[in-house]
Formats: sequence, structure tokens, C-alpha cells
Amino acid sequence: MGIPGEVNAPSLSAQAVWRRCLEVIQRNLGSNPAPIRTFLGAVQPISLQEGVLTLRVPSQFFYEYIEEHFSVLIVRTLRRLLGPKARLEYQVMTAAEATPMRLPSQELPPPTVFPGIRTVQTFPTNLNPKYSFENFIEGDCNRIARSAGMTVAQRPGQTAFNPLFIYGEVGQGKTHLAHAIGNYARLLHPDKVILYLTSERFTQEYTEAVRNKKISGFLQRLQSVDLLIVDDIQFLVGKPSTQDMFFHVFNDLHQKGRQIVITADAYPSELRGMEERIISRFSWGLAAPLHPPDYETRLAILRFKLRQEGIEIPEEILSYIAEHVQSHVRDLEGVVIQLLAETSIRRRELSLSLAQDIVSRFKPLRTRAITLEAILKAVSNYFKIHIDELTGKSRRKEVAYARHIAVFLARKHTRSALKALGEYFGGRDHSTILHSCQWVSEMLPVNQELSRHVQDLERILLRTA
Ligand code: ADP
Ligand code: MG
Repeated sequence: MGIPGEVNAPSLSAQAVWRRCLEVIQRNLGSNPAPIRTFLGAVQPISLQEGVLTLRVPSQFFYEYIEEHFSVLIVRTLRRLLGPKARLEYQVMTAAEATPMRLPSQELPPPTVFPGIRTVQTFPTNLNPKYSFENFIEGDCNRIARSAGMTVAQRPGQTAFNPLFIYGEVGQGKTHLAHAIGNYARLLHPDKVILYLTSERFTQEYTEAVRNKKISGFLQRLQSVDLLIVDDIQFLVGKPSTQDMFFHVFNDLHQKGRQIVITADAYPSELRGMEERIISRFSWGLAAPLHPPDYETRLAILRFKLRQEGIEIPEEILSYIAEHVQSHVRDLEGVVIQLLAETSIRRRELSLSLAQDIVSRFKPLRTRAITLEAILKAVSNYFKIHIDELTGKSRRKEVAYARHIAVFLARKHTRSALKALGEYFGGRDHSTILHSCQWVSEMLPVNQELSRHVQDLERILLRTA
């Protein structure tokens, strides 16, 4: 090997050195090499001069990903092979050198010109035209989110609301608002590239890109987006490698001043199992709530929906429904649909007693929640461990394992605070509870047995709730 302090080994080529680096990386990776291979496979070692290995990477994105994940291993290997002064450099391919993007078809709007890059919407926006601001009724419960949404649609990437983070329980209008933002932005800025994705779809496309070695295309598409809308981000919980990818996409777009809109079922810091660094990014912009609709808004929504269906309804009946269906906008819609069915299909007369009948049969979504008691009972049955033991002091391995899972499920599916959970689980402090949650989320992707247990239990809980 080289004399310390000096760089030698002129006989080694860039290719040979890079091959050794790859071997070392592979050896150090073990369990989940697929995404990594995808990234490193796109790297070309282009020169080795005076101890500097230069890697050509397809984009800034690859550079950041490789720098963050592998640079330590690579540099260590270089130093071992070439001496302590060996270094790593990157050459990031510019847009001009990259594979040209597909040419726009005739129907598409003219391409926007960004510094050095031509962009055009060559893929579907996934927007549903049925959701607009016009049919998103304004009320106290949604005023901030709605007006912030309009603002970012008017001036994507140019306000402090980046990202715009919209949060609220199920059925409160997150998806509606997300599409409305996209549709409005599209109307105002036909030249901008807009993409709506649920986080499940993001996960699926990413996984497929990795499997089919098409990560470059996947990234190229995301990087060309001016307005990215990701719905239900909470479903990235428990998917560390997708979260990681999302983090990079987010940074890349944010850095370029593109607009990002996120929806979730909870406030950023309440997104359990989401990486800390992602949560902190979410707090950069505006977090706007969608609260359950207040009485006035419920009334306005009912009026609007009924008018759309062409039904005239006496005020007395309207206010009866608005008063008694309090949980979600989706429930209000459910009542409207049933009213429609009863009056038009069954030809029943529209009366207060019909409305009372429907409302009394109506089971609001919220009652179908998973409770702490249900979780304990399910875990106890599943592992044949008594509830007292689960909430007690036992440190027996089987008990501790089941308890970790119970705590994890409780944290994920109930709205209990750490402190409350600690008390519930035999007076443990909140760091113990947090530790259980972290242990399970970290082990889930790598431990198949654990993953099966958690999935089984969730299935049981959802069935019985
Ligand atoms: P979430 O994504 O939060 O679960 P959705 O966006 O799917 O909720 O909303 C549920 C239903 O309620 C949708 O049909 C939506 O159009 C309707 N809705 C929600 N909020 C409003 C609103 N403010 N005005 C009119 N309709 C609404
Ligand atoms: Mg939704």
C-alpha cells in the first residue's frame, strides 16, 4: 500500500477503485441492497487523478443521496487503497447532457422555460376535476386552510406557505381541498407542472421504480414538478426507505422554490413514526387545520349539497340534521344520499320524521375508533398473556415483547398522550413508552415475524372496532 501521507498506486484505474468501493458498500449493507444498487448503479467512475476519484452522477439528487448514505464508506475505502489524502469528487450531469425528456405532444400547453431546463407536463396530474374551491364550503372550521390553499394555488412556491401542511381527521375535507388547490393552480397557470399523489401511490411508484431499475425516470418526473401535492402523508409511517426518498424529493423541490402541499391526519409533531427531520421540514411553512364543521358550516354544506341534487327542503328539517349529525362532512353527505334514496327511489315523503329516522340509523364514523381496552384485549388473546401481566412489571421476554406491540398499537391507533399511556401500562414513564414505539417501528421493516404479529393484530382490531 501507499506510503502514508502520499497518494500513489497509479496502476489502479478509476473503474477498479470504484469496484472495490462497491464491494465494501455491499458487504456493509446486508439486508436491503435493492434501492442502494439502483443508486450506485447509475454512477460512473470517470477519473482517478492524484488521489481524487471523480464520480459522474445523473443529477443533484443522486449526488445528495450518495453523499449522505455512502460517502463515509467510499472515502474510507479510497484512503485504504490510495493513501490518507485520497478524496472523492462528483460531477453532476447537467440537464443538457441528460437523456432528453420526451417531446411534448401537440395538445399539451407550451413548455415553461426554467434556467437551463425545459419542463412540460408529460404525465397525468391525477387531479380529480370534481373537487374545486367553489364546492368547498367555507366556514370557521376550515377558513385558514381554505384561504391558504387559494393563496398557494395563485402563487405556488412564492409565499411563506411552503410547504402548506393541511391536517384534520378523516372525512374533514383534506382530499377535497388538496385537489381543489391543484385544479385552481392548473387553471391559473396552465404552464406549470402539477402532480397529485397519495402517499401510498408515492410508495408504490417508488418501490416499482426500484424494482424495475427506473429510479432515474421516477426522480426526473418528480423533479420537474412545480406543485407537488401528497395526500395522507401519515401512511409513510413505518416505511423508512420511502420516507428517506420523500425527504430528498422534498428538499430538492423546496430548494428550487417549488410548491409542496401535504395533507395528514395529525399535526406534524403528532405524526408518530415519521422521521424527525421530515417532521421538522413540515414546520417550515404553514400548518393549517381542518376542524370538524361547526353548526353554521354544517347547515351551509347541507344546503349546498341538497341544492346540487335539486332538492328543496324545509328549514326545520335542515336544522334538525345539522344539529344531529356533528362529526364529519362525509357523514352529512351520507345523510343527503340516504334522503335522496328514500325520497326518489322509495318515494317516501320528505318530512321531519323521515329525517329523524335517517339520522337515528346513522352511525357516525367516529364511533368506530379503536380503544386502548380493545388493544389490550386483542394482544392478550393473541399472545395468551393475561392483561394484568401486560400492564404489570413482568420483564419476562414474551411479556415484554407483547407489551412493546401493545404500546405501539395504542400509540398508533388511539389519540392517547405518552404520559397517559405510561400510566395505563403500569406506571411507566414516557421515555419507556417512546422506546417501545421506536423499537417496534425500527424492527418492523426488518423483522418478518414482528411484522406479521402487528398486521394480524391490526386486522383483528379493525374487524372488531
Ligand atoms: P378527508 O380526505 O379529510 O378524509 P374528504 O376530502 O374525502 O375528507 O371529504 C369527505 C367528503 O366531504 C368529500 O366528499 C368532500 O367533498 C366533502 N367535504 C369536505 N369538506 C367540505 C366542505 N367544506 N364543503 C363541501 N364538501 C366538503
Ligand atoms: Mg382523504
